[in-house]
Amino acid sequence: MKRTIFGKTGLSVSPIAFGGIPIMRLSTPEAVKVVKEALDLGINFIDTATGYADSQVKIGEAIRGLPRKDLVLATKSMANDKKTILEHIDNSLKQMKTDYIDIYQLHNVSSKEKFDAIFAKDGAFEGLMLAVKQGKIRFPGFSAHVMEFAVKMIKTDKFFSVQIPYNFIDKQAEEEVLPLAKKMNLGIIAMKPLGGGLLDDANLCFKFLFKDDGIVPDPGIEKPGQMKEIVDIFNKAEKLTKADLAEMEKIKKETSKSWCHRCDYCQPCPQGIGISTVLLVKSFIKRMNAEKAVAMVSEVVKKVESCTECGECIKRCPYSLDIPNLLKENRLVWKEYVKKNS
Ligand code: SF4
Ligand code: SF4
Repeated sequence: MKRTIFGKTGLSVSPIAFGGIPIMRLSTPEAVKVVKEALDLGINFIDTATGYADSQVKIGEAIRGLPRKDLVLATKSMANDKKTILEHIDNSLKQMKTDYIDIYQLHNVSSKEKFDAIFAKDGAFEGLMLAVKQGKIRFPGFSAHVMEFAVKMIKTDKFFSVQIPYNFIDKQAEEEVLPLAKKMNLGIIAMKPLGGGLLDDANLCFKFLFKDDGIVPDPGIEKPGQMKEIVDIFNKAEKLTKADLAEMEKIKKETSKSWCHRCDYCQPCPQGIGISTVLLVKSFIKRMNAEKAVAMVSEVVKKVESCTECGECIKRCPYSLDIPNLLKENRLVWKEYVKKNS
């Protein structure tokens, strides 16, 4: 498979990365099989996170014995402080059975509190820099769901890569993040290329993403054959047709009343409800294993009971979502799921 240069890291990567979320749901032999299948197809770029249960361990198992120099490994940590991120980095090295990580990302820098904590004295950024000095990581990067903070992070000029949600529905990155990241020559990873598992038409999703060769999507893979399907779409290099554009518009329209872009402009909710997490329960259900999903989501969904329907969030949502009703709907979906999995 052809390679592309990943921004100012200079790393030569496949134009598609392997996203490490859904392998949490697989047994180790199954996970190893799908990672190896991707590698056999020419994928050399693997992206995961410390927060994705045992994803790093399974990746470590899959790449054991392979020439390290041919691989580009990226992972992330939610840590805000230096001590914790250094522990996470050591743990990533151990779990992936390697002595360096190519790209270590600060995971989801999407609030002022997180931004300030990272750059405070003894914050996570100091830890990243120390790990670079020690040769444990090569390039610091970050991921963000809120574009305002992605821009803020890029403008610090301290990072080599940015990872943001990008698909034909979540296109907020086109306004400022993508042009700025390209201008500053950052490597760009498009997370949620299939809308976090909520968009079914892989052909449409990847034709949209492959129109721009400066962006590397990292689809989460959990079944043999899935990566091959995406690589085939890439190899065909078909341009978007009028019919594709019409289909995208149709899907956009159909989902416009319920699609949460996770921008968090609806916050703060006076009741402390994690609105975007609740509105995305179907995505959590689809991509995570039940244990992890329950640990991450149950408490957040429980808070929906305290919604007073004050409507403050609706006023702030740029997409005019009927948040109180969507919260109720998603709570029901969640209850059913928990019932089935308990
Ligand atoms: S309507 Fe409910 S979710 Fe929205 S701000 Fe009010 S209490 Fe929070
Ligand atoms: S509900 Fe609206 S404002 Fe809140 S995260 Fe979703 S899209 Fe953004």
